[in-house]
Amino acid sequence: MFSIKSLHKIIFAISFTALFVVWQWYFVKSVFNFDFLARPILADGFCKDCNVILISLDNLRAKSLLCYGYEKNTAPNLCSFAGKSYLFKNVYTPSSKTQDSHFSIFTGLYPISHGMTVPFTSVLDSNIKTLPQILASNGYTTLFSGPKNDPHLPLDRGFERGFSYKDKGDEPRYWMDNMKKNNLLNRKFFAFLHTYRVHEPYIPQKENINKFYPGGPLIYVTRNDLCKKAYIKLLSQYPDRFKNLKVLNDDYCNIYRDYNTKYAATWNVEIESYLARLDPYWDAFNNLDFLVKKEYTHALYATSIYEMDLELKKFFNELENNKLLDKTIVVITADHGEEFFEHGGHSHAANLYNESIQVPLIIYIPKSKSQIVEKLASSVDIMPTILSILGIEAPEKITGIDLFSSKENKFVLAQHVTANLETIITLKWKLILNGDEKELFDLTSDPEEQIDLSIKNTNISNDLENKLNNYLFRLPKYNSIKSEPFPTWIDEEQRKKLIETGYF
Ligand SMILES: [Zn+2]
Repeated sequence: MFSIKSLHKIIFAISFTALFVVWQWYFVKSVFNFDFLARPILADGFCKDCNVILISLDNLRAKSLLCYGYEKNTAPNLCSFAGKSYLFKNVYTPSSKTQDSHFSIFTGLYPISHGMTVPFTSVLDSNIKTLPQILASNGYTTLFSGPKNDPHLPLDRGFERGFSYKDKGDEPRYWMDNMKKNNLLNRKFFAFLHTYRVHEPYIPQKENINKFYPGGPLIYVTRNDLCKKAYIKLLSQYPDRFKNLKVLNDDYCNIYRDYNTKYAATWNVEIESYLARLDPYWDAFNNLDFLVKKEYTHALYATSIYEMDLELKKFFNELENNKLLDKTIVVITADHGEEFFEHGGHSHAANLYNESIQVPLIIYIPKSKSQIVEKLASSVDIMPTILSILGIEAPEKITGIDLFSSKENKFVLAQHVTANLETIITLKWKLILNGDEKELFDLTSDPEEQIDLSIKNTNISNDLENKLNNYLFRLPKYNSIKSEPFPTWIDEEQRKKLIETGYF
C-alpha cells in the first residue's frame, strides 16, 4: 500500500503533469494561432438578430494577401481585421465570372443550379429565394451599395430582389455614408457592399508603386491615356455618336463619361467601351520582358489592394466608432481572383486555376473567438452560414453548408459554363476538365498547379471525374431565363474576346 506521503507525491505529479499539458496546449495554440481540428462549431442562432454586412471585394485573390500566405503585406488592415475573425483558408468560388459567382453567394446554389450563367440575357428563376429576400422577410432593412448600372452584376435580372435601398457607392469610402443616409444604423439591417476597387485596369497612385516594385514605376498608364485611346477608337467606328460631345481641356474621361451616360442603356456600347479601355492598358506592357511584365503588373495590382486597404481601415474604424462591431456579423469575400501569367494569361480569363478561383473568406462574429479554419469551403456556403448564425432557416434545396456546423465538404466544384471548363477540388487533389483534356494537381505538394499528374494517377483522376459528373447530374436545376448563349448583336470577334476576358 502507498503511504500518505507517497500518495501526496503521486497526486502532485499527476496534477503538475495535467497543468503542464494544458499550459502547453494553450501556449502552442496562442503562438501558432492554429486550431488542431480547424472545425469551428457554433450553435444555430449564436448571433440572433445581429446585423449583417456582406462585402464583396471584386477581383481580390487570396494568394495576394499576407494572411493567405503572400510574402508582402498588401492589406495590413484587412488582415488585422481577419485576426479578430474566422479566416477560412481553403475557399473556392464556384466560377471565375462576376455574375455566376455573386448569384451563388446570394442563393447557396452552384451556377449550374441557379442558371445565371449568361450575362445580359439571364433572369433569375422566381422560385429561388436570395439572401436579401430571406433577410427582408425576417425583418431586416436591406441595402445594396455598389455600381448600379453594372452589366456583370445585373440588378434588373434578379440581383435587386429583397433590397429596401439601392445606392450607388462602389468604393469603401462611400459605404458608411450610404448606411447612415438610409438610416440603417437605427434598425436591424443587412448591407451588401460591392467594390471594383482592385479590378483591372489597376491604376494606383504613382508614388505608391515602389512599395511593391522597388525602383518603380516602370510604365505608368493614366486613366486619361486609356480614355483617349478608347475615344479615338470609338470615334473612328461611330462618328455619329460623338456629334454633340466635345473634349474639354484634354479631359478624355469626361467625354467618355458623357458617351457612356448617353448610351448606358445598351450593353453592347458598355462592352465596347470596356474593351476599348482594357486593350490599350495591357498593350502598354507588351514590350516588357515576360518575367518583368508578370512581376510589374502584379505589383500594380498589389498597390491597388494596398490603397483599397487604406479605405477599408477607415470603414473598420467607422464600424467601431458607431459601436456596430458588438452586434454585426461582417463577412468579407471576393467573387473571383486574378491571374498574372502563372498559366499564360492575365485578368480572370477562362481558366479555373487557383489564382482565378481561390478567394478570401473572413467572417467576424461578435463575442466569438478568432480562428484560422482549414475546412474546405465554397462561396455557396456563405448564405447558409449567415442564416444559421442568425438562427434563420435556409431554403431546403440549397447546396451550400453551414460552415459552423459539423458538416464537411468532401469536395467543392467550380465551372466556367460557356468555356466548358469544370473542376472538382478536395483538400489534396484538384482535377480540371477542359473538354476532353484533363489536368490533375496535388495541391499539398504543388499549390501552384504546375505538375499535371493525370497520366500518372489515372485512378484518382477517373474517380474524381465520376464524382464530379454524378454530382453535377444530381444538383437541382432551376429555370432561369436564358436565350441564345450570346446575344445576336455581339459579333464573332467580340465573342472570342469576351470569352478570353472571362466575361462569357
Ligand atoms: Zn468580378
